[in-house]
Amino acid sequence: MLRIGCHLSSSKGWEAMGQDALKIGADTFQFFTRNPRGSKAKALNLEDLENLKRLMAKNGFARIVAHAPYTLNACSADERVREFARETMQDDLKRMEYLPGNYYNFHPGSHVKQGVEKGVRQIAELLNEILQEDQKTTVLLETMAGKGTEIGRTFEEIAEILSQIKLSDKVGVCMDTCHVHDAGYDIVNHLDETVSEFDRIIGLKRLKVIHLNDSKNPSGSHKDRHEKIGEGWIGLEAIKQIICHPAFENLPFILETPNQLDGYEKEIRLLRGIK
Ligand code: FE
Ligand code: FE
Ligand code: ZN
Repeated sequence: MLRIGCHLSSSKGWEAMGQDALKIGADTFQFFTRNPRGSKAKALNLEDLENLKRLMAKNGFARIVAHAPYTLNACSADERVREFARETMQDDLKRMEYLPGNYYNFHPGSHVKQGVEKGVRQIAELLNEILQEDQKTTVLLETMAGKGTEIGRTFEEIAEILSQIKLSDKVGVCMDTCHVHDAGYDIVNHLDETVSEFDRIIGLKRLKVIHLNDSKNPSGSHKDRHEKIGEGWIGLEAIKQIICHPAFENLPFILETPNQLDGYEKEIRLLRGIK
């Protein structure tokens, strides 16, 4: 069975996100842990959270994905910026323990002029400082399009971060189809080869979530502009191959396409009709 959902606004609260998901035929979803600019998070409403957990259990939801603010930069040259990323992620992870057994996804960061090697080291260092032996959340590194000096544009860069992490079993990977396409992996004509390459370099057992997006730009553009399913350069045929690929069986697929709820509902219906 296809496990699929989309990015939802968390502004109405926990249970409301679960209800939105149900309304559009989803059985998972993603949300920002706080506003994308990384301001202070709201106090947790534990009763509301319990209601969401009950809704998820009752309706057989797959694991859900919390997304860190995308403005954080774990490998900034500015120590205060790295410190802010560390504090924010640490706080997010503490809060995630009230919703145990789910995912916390983040963008590795941009090394600016420091170089990939130093950036990779800083990202791993930050994770080594915040990961806890007893945490119930799996932290995910998202594959990136390679805009500017983004780290995570190649499977090698992700693998290098993973290799430097001590509590390795607390960390996995989220593959964003728009990002890997924009990074230059040809998932349209050579999906099997890309999957094999992922397996060889990172290991498929690390892959926990797929961000399912079409792209407004051709492969290798390093742009990162998401498009609606079937309306971009990846196209519906390749997206069919992706959701049906045996390597991705049982993984949650999260749509981050430019849509409101009704648009997401249509895409979920379309994709469930295929698989
Ligand atoms: Fe992301
Ligand atoms: Fe994404
Ligand atoms: Zn993106």
